[in-house]
Amino acid sequence: MSKKVLVIGEAREGTLRNVTFEAIAAANIISDGGEVVGVLCGSDSLEDMGKEMIYYGADRVITVANEELKTYTSDGYGQAVLAVINDESPEGIVMGHTSIGKDLTPKLASRLESGLISDATEVVAEGGSIVFTRPIYSGKAFEKKEITEGLTFATIRPNNIPAAARDEGRAGEVTEKSVDVQNIRTIIKEVIRKSTDGVDLSEAKVVIAGGRGVKSAEGFEPLEELAELLGGTVGASRGACDAGYCDYSLQIGQTGKVITPDLYIACGISGAIQHLAGMSNSKVIVAINKDPEANIFNVADYGIVGDLFDVLPKLIEEIKQM
Ligand code: FAD
Repeated sequence: MSKKVLVIGEAREGTLRNVTFEAIAAANIISDGGEVVGVLCGSDSLEDMGKEMIYYGADRVITVANEELKTYTSDGYGQAVLAVINDESPEGIVMGHTSIGKDLTPKLASRLESGLISDATEVVAEGGSIVFTRPIYSGKAFEKKEITEGLTFATIRPNNIPAAARDEGRAGEVTEKSVDVQNIRTIIKEVIRKSTDGVDLSEAKVVIAGGRGVKSAEGFEPLEELAELLGGTVGASRGACDAGYCDYSLQIGQTGKVITPDLYIACGISGAIQHLAGMSNSKVIVAINKDPEANIFNVADYGIVGDLFDVLPKLIEEIKQM
């Protein structure tokens, strides 16, 4: 049965995050030929980003621009998105399983008295139902779920559901809705970005991660060089963050970021269960560790037993010559 599905878009510094396009792809599966409606909140003109959502498969987009929505707060975005939901009465809602998605969607689901399937890695139409696959037990197993009644509400894990190809020939309306956003209880005074510039860790296709074996902040330099060569970014284990070698915004794992890059290279990381929870679903895992018994080799597709400070320069040289 065809459905109207809203996609809550997410932007960072004026650019839509890839997971927005992946959410549109998921919404198109859920809608089963119905309508996919993008929703964008912010303070400036959102029209160009609205058009971008249409190029990636939304049928139309509703924007809510308001000074109170300049930075994300669950109160502000919650009110704006709920106003759109009340107007549109969708049968489905999809958003990325990002920090904002994890904060906003449970609040919306409780207001709408709806269930929520969070962190889906696959969405398929199967015999008239929509089946979501999601990891459980820190990624050690997967479960399949479907929503049998009410709103089909889900968040999707970045880098898992392929976005449609961008098509500038697609037409669709971008309309602005005015919402009187008020009583915001959180005041964002300043945003201090601590993560490295460039590629966003949770959406990166290539992640070079360092652990306690990197031994110092300077020890991350060859990892950064390799990440730049491969168009990726640097991540870390909690061991490296706790030791002060890098910022906690780079932490991957159960209490850090959950990532699914195409290529994950672990350098001097032992492979503790809490770390594996954040990266074991990466498509190709390479481990460099001087201990042949390190647990990381149990999940690695390719393992290099050796000192990372010998291996990385050689790898960098080889790649430079390609
Ligand atoms: P270590 O375990 O010390 O491993 C260092 C590795 O480097 C070793 O295997 C060693 O052989 C290798 N090595 C040393 N020198 C070199 C060299 N020169 N070349 C190559 N290899 C070398 N951890 C996370 O990562 N993410 C989380 O989100 C997380 N959440 C946690 C939540 C809880 C509740 C708890 C209790 C723990 C959590 N941890 C988390 C911590 C986790 O248990 C481990 O302590 C941590 O992952 C270890 O980090 P590490 O692998 O960098 O360090």
